[in-house]
Amino acid sequence: MDWVQILQQQAKWSSNNKSENRLTSQQAIELYDNAPLHQLMAAAMERRKAIHPEGYVTYLIDRNINYTNICTINCQFCSFYRPPNHPETYTQTFEEISARIVELEQIGGSRILMQGGVNPDLPINWYQELITSLRKHHPTIALDCFSPIEIEGIADVSGLTTLEVLTKFQSVGMHGLPGGGAEMLVESVRKDVSPKKGLPENWLKVMKEAQSLGLTTSATNVFGFGEGATERVEHMRRIRELQDQSLESYNIGFTSFIAWPVQLEVNSFGRRNRGQNKFELGAGSSEYLRHVAVSRLFFDNIENIQSSWPTMGISVAQMALMGGANDIGSTMMEENVVSASGTTKLSASEKELQDVILRAGFRPAIRDSDYNLLPTTLVAAEVTSLKAPTPIQ
Ligand code: SF4
Repeated sequence: MDWVQILQQQAKWSSNNKSENRLTSQQAIELYDNAPLHQLMAAAMERRKAIHPEGYVTYLIDRNINYTNICTINCQFCSFYRPPNHPETYTQTFEEISARIVELEQIGGSRILMQGGVNPDLPINWYQELITSLRKHHPTIALDCFSPIEIEGIADVSGLTTLEVLTKFQSVGMHGLPGGGAEMLVESVRKDVSPKKGLPENWLKVMKEAQSLGLTTSATNVFGFGEGATERVEHMRRIRELQDQSLESYNIGFTSFIAWPVQLEVNSFGRRNRGQNKFELGAGSSEYLRHVAVSRLFFDNIENIQSSWPTMGISVAQMALMGGANDIGSTMMEENVVSASGTTKLSASEKELQDVILRAGFRPAIRDSDYNLLPTTLVAAEVTSLKAPTPIQ
């Protein structure tokens, strides 16, 4: 089938019978490589309307906390980490982390996303005591902590299995896991850019275990490592496959899919893009929008597709809302991992998020970490009273 026939078939997709016109990997690659962007985005918009007919775009008031920058994994695209004993290492105290959460509580936040490096100096007791303390002092804040590679590191240090680590953390109040570290779930890409991070199966295994315990999880995707549509779709296929299994076995799966291009400014991976051996890495706006649209059509079993303002800027994130995304992420308040590689916008106000949602023609709705809608007060001006941006002469 060519892209025209595939989009015609996709127009017949119905949420009442999701498996009937499921997009195959081969079809997704054809769309990725050959469908015109405007038609791809229009198809993704129709799919989004079928899954979310109510016309909301959701967002979360939360805070990222990067509790330690000590890491032994040495991913080439990461400018955040410092190896053990480096003079710029840090690990935040419980009090410092708690103070950050107090600031989140003051603006009505509901969740922290806490992740850091794989720090071999922290025993499992440190993590358990941290979660216990945060649960006690901040009972209304959902604690989404430690991506799969951190869970693996903690298991290594403590001599436990990853399932045992997750079970212990859940018992003291951990709510879920960040989706970080998936990057590209394709062996050849992982071996090239982060060989110490382990195989795709490692990330998938920890996420499956988390889902088996009923923990909240999300799926991420960093692209632009020089791979093509085949690898990008393979990443999506592996996540869709696990989602099928987890929904069937545990009645819970990834809440959302969030993709962004690798940032290249100040890391060894970005330096590959310079000099005599220059080749293109990363991805621009139209490629990002294409990626979001294909992911919306591909993931018939993940309801929420998030647009990424921290990496793409608020305007491109807004355009993604018209090409399949139904969520614009969160306020974040701070971000230190991706931003260390060159992004400049580290937080967004609630008003700012509401503005872009209204201007895109949707209604803003606050959600929690599990995508339950929360009461929303409009702090942005209604769209009719928003001034149009001044045209560039
Ligand atoms: S991306 Fe994560 S695992 Fe990789 S070096 Fe950075 S902090 Fe460590």
